[in-house]
Amino acid sequence: MDDCIFCKIINGTLPSCKVYETDTLYAFLDLNPSSKGHTLIVPKKHCQDIFGADTSIGSDVLEAMKTVARAIKEVTGCTGINIVQNNGRDAGQMIDHLHWHIVPRFANDGLDLWPQGKYDSMDEMNAMAEKLRKALA
Ligand code: AMP
Ligand code: ZN
Repeated sequence: MDDCIFCKIINGTLPSCKVYETDTLYAFLDLNPSSKGHTLIVPKKHCQDIFGADTSIGSDVLEAMKTVARAIKEVTGCTGINIVQNNGRDAGQMIDHLHWHIVPRFANDGLDLWPQGKYDSMDEMNAMAEKLRKALA
């Protein structure tokens, strides 16, 4: 994709602080980190979001998440890690090239990624589960 920032980072036409690379993935530091060490893992092959994802790289992604998370823990001394992947503007996706955020966390660091939502009742919650089961059947 000619105008994709992450494609340009992967092919070297834009700079990045690379931390890790495999045949299928490229990982680099986020320019505006939620905390220091915040890393992005990006498939080398362009695709917009999870809906177009090539599932054959699933195990590569999981392996890279483990490897990078372990290194972040060792280097930053963080006591927790969030792994986040945004799809669509309403979910906070700013760059339309699939990627996973690996975010180091510390006690009382003040990050609040998931303010709490609620069902009005158990009936509503059960109805949601039923609809999802039907969609997945
Ligand atoms: P998202 O909001 O999930 O699309 O995340 C995009 C992330 O890419 C943001 O956290 C940005 O800070 C980060 N970002 C954007 N441009 C660059 C860049 N040139 N180098 C490193 N990180 C970037
Ligand atoms: Zn791209």
